[in-house]
Amino acid sequence: MAKVIYPGTFDPVTYGHIDIVKRAIELFEQVIVTVAKNPSKTSLFTVEERVEMLKESLMEFPNVLVDSFDGLVVDHAKNLGAIGIIRGLRAVSDFEFEFQMALMNRKLAGNITTILLMPHARYTYLNSTIVRNLAQFQGNVSEFVPPIVIEKLKAKFPKK
Ligand code: ADP
Repeated sequence: MAKVIYPGTFDPVTYGHIDIVKRAIELFEQVIVTVAKNPSKTSLFTVEERVEMLKESLMEFPNVLVDSFDGLVVDHAKNLGAIGIIRGLRAVSDFEFEFQMALMNRKLAGNITTILLMPHARYTYLNSTIVRNLAQFQGNVSEFVPPIVIEKLKAKFPKK
């Protein structure tokens, strides 16, 4: 069974991430969406909250699992028996970083392949930072994130 992991910060999950997951499940039998516990990034949501939002948003897909990890992506992939790492490529601006990481991960684990997938054009300008900033100032994020995320953002940024 070809299994892949889709690692990221997901702070919070957006429809852009979900678009990538949907494309990945067309190609592989199982997709494990995995939240990175990245100590060098300060996040709005805890790892547990991010996992919960992903689980709720991806509930309809039986071959998608959600978990979290601490450490190297390639080690987590190996532990799960995954053959590849899925990443999203929105624009040329993502390319350099993703390319560098893919080559480093290949150096660390030659048998784990990075697969870059492009989302629908409508999501190319979308990222979690924009969503957090919009929500902070009570902007409407309903086009960009699932209902569970709207709820959690409202709780983080209550109307004054
Ligand atoms: P990271 O900190 O690992 O970049 P993110 O949660 O921001 O974590 O993103 C995880 C992955 O999803 C990355 O490969 C990123 O390029 C991709 N991604 C983020 N937003 C989108 C989007 N709107 N469309 C497609 N891919 C996206």
